[in-house]
Amino acid sequence: MNDCLFCKIIAGDIPSTKVYEDESCFAFRDINPQAPTHVLLVPKAHVGSIAEANALPLETQAALFAAIPKIAAQEGLTNGFRIVSNCGPDACQSVPHLHFHILGGRQMADQMA
Ligand code: 5GP
Ligand code: ZN
Repeated sequence: MNDCLFCKIIAGDIPSTKVYEDESCFAFRDINPQAPTHVLLVPKAHVGSIAEANALPLETQAALFAAIPKIAAQEGLTNGFRIVSNCGPDACQSVPHLHFHILGGRQMADQMA
């Protein structure tokens, strides 16, 4: 997608700190980390949010799911971590390209919202 920030990051047109990459997924450090580890995992193909995830090939959906524990292990998150995917205005989604926040490295708040 021409005007999408995360598509530009995936393409390398905007620099990022890459954490993980495979055929269909890319992960990089959040520019404004909310925890000691704060990684964003995205599909390379553009979809707007998790609400559109079924537009991705099943292989890509599976690859995203499989990438999460790989990244958590790579980041040393042996004591746990949190996955967040904000979807739409009620969830304060600010970048309209599906992404999973992988947050860890400290005790998370016990409330999610
Ligand atoms: P959302 O609010 O859509 O759930 O999350 C978007 C995330 O993207 C935010 O946590 C924000 O800090 C991060 N972000 C926004 N712009 C950039 C950028 O240019 N580079 C990186 N690495 N992260 C970004
Ligand atoms: Zn995009």
